[in-house]
Amino acid sequence: MPERLLEVRALDARYGDFQALFGVSMDVADGEVVAVIGANGAGKSTLLKCIAGAMRAQRDAIVFAGRSIGGLPAHDVVALGIALVPEGRRLFPSLTVEENLLIGGQLGRRGPWSLTRVYDLFPILAERAKQPSMSLSGGQQQMVAIGRALMSNPKLLLCDEISLGLAPIVIRDIYARLPAIVAEGISLMIVEQDIVQALRVGNHVYCLQEGRVALAGEARTMTREKIAAAYFGV
Ligand code: ATP
Repeated sequence: MPERLLEVRALDARYGDFQALFGVSMDVADGEVVAVIGANGAGKSTLLKCIAGAMRAQRDAIVFAGRSIGGLPAHDVVALGIALVPEGRRLFPSLTVEENLLIGGQLGRRGPWSLTRVYDLFPILAERAKQPSMSLSGGQQQMVAIGRALMSNPKLLLCDEISLGLAPIVIRDIYARLPAIVAEGISLMIVEQDIVQALRVGNHVYCLQEGRVALAGEARTMTREKIAAAYFGV
């Protein structure tokens, strides 16, 4: 049984008076790929933001490598080994591809990821290294966002809807690189609305519905019916 890397325990999250997460619990083991699925507004991004320190969380609700980290600021969370690929990529548009990647390395840890390794993973980025990031296609920008997160040498990579707005062939191309990331000893938590993609890549699946875990289990045990019930509440 692999070690538990991340434990989320009864996590609540609020935007002012509005409660977005209600007692959410989930685990990510060492080397595991966990897919978190759910409809619009289910709370997926909120969950990732809480883990990444971009949103308030109770201290003991997030335990990483045996240490309670809920409520720590984002830069401390990065330094401990958690990196977020945010929804919408959030690149610095006027900076070059390489400058964006280098920013990812500033707060992070020592480890195998470097510009060279990121360019090995996404060779097109080496060709575009000196171009402003906004001149790239959507798929290439997503590669920069993933590369920037890898530059911090995380143990856990959180990916928020990396397929959003991309063509199917581009999505396949990006997903095809994920095993190489896992092979470096990184665990992944992938938030997706694309259920097919999520089931293909995930060992374990959680479905959120209106801020609660409606379904949890091994990806191979999931059926269409189970997922539809948890996803749409039917
Ligand atoms: P999507 O796929 O649309 O991003 P999601 O599952 O990631 O959905 P969240 O973005 O986590 O969902 O949103 C969960 C709930 O919190 C939604 O009802 C949303 O309207 C609300 N919410 C999200 N961000 C804010 C905010 N900044 N202020 C107030 N409410 C918010």
